[in-house]
Amino acid sequence: MLAHNNVTVMAGRARFLGANSLAIEPTGCDVGLGKNAKSMFDATIEAANIIIATGSKAAALPMPGSQLPGVIDSDGALALTSVPKSIAIIGAGAIGCEWSCILSRLGCQVTLIEKLPQVLPQVEKELGAVLAEMLISEGITVHTGADHPRILQEGSNLGCSLDMPPKTERKA
Ligand SMILES: Cc1cc2nc3c(=O)[nH]c(=O)nc-3n(C[C@H](O)[C@H](O)[C@H](O)COP(=O)(O)OP(=O)(O)OC[C@H]3O[C@@H](n4cnc5c(N)ncnc54)[C@H](O)[C@@H]3O)c2cc1C
Repeated sequence: MLAHNNVTVMAGRARFLGANSLAIEPTGCDVGLGKNAKSMFDATIEAANIIIATGSKAAALPMPGSQLPGVIDSDGALALTSVPKSIAIIGAGAIGCEWSCILSRLGCQVTLIEKLPQVLPQVEKELGAVLAEMLISEGITVHTGADHPRILQEGSNLGCSLDMPPKTERKA
């Protein structure tokens, strides 16, 4: 489609040289860019207008233990080369629910943790309840209303301790 629409695709990392010029540095990766991709080495591009559309990075988890080895974000989940035996997923938004289903169906024991009272807190309560039932029926352990998760090193494993009403501590 890009070729059809006369778009030139360059494989490389762009860096601003000035308000109207970019340096394109090779990254060694042009996979998936299509047959009109050009591998450019140290090319310079001049343009009257430049759109920056570089995406975003996952936010750092604001909780104790989030820097421990073995704690991953969704980019890290995409880079997994094997299915973990078990995993705790913090956050039952769209991505947390999506990864819970993927890993559970691949044979991983999944615990899904959400601080608000329902999974998918941004949608209607009824929809969240239906999805929670579905997740539980697939063998996923779901904790809602679970606040202040703390990630702990427990021998060679990681653990997650939570504040759970009315109980005070649970292990995931
Ligand atoms: C696990 C996961 C699941 C998601 N599921 C959905 C979903 O089901 N539905 C949905 O609508 N959204 C989903 N999203 C969100 C969606 O992926 C993003 O909103 C969308 O990709 C943002 O598009 P973007 O073009 O801004 O950034 P990106 O898609 O991140 O694209 C930015 C591109 O810029 C490139 N780039 C960065 N810096 C440079 C540079 N200096 N030079 C050259 N290139 C550079 C990057 O390599 C990247 O290819 C999901 C996100 C995640 C993480």
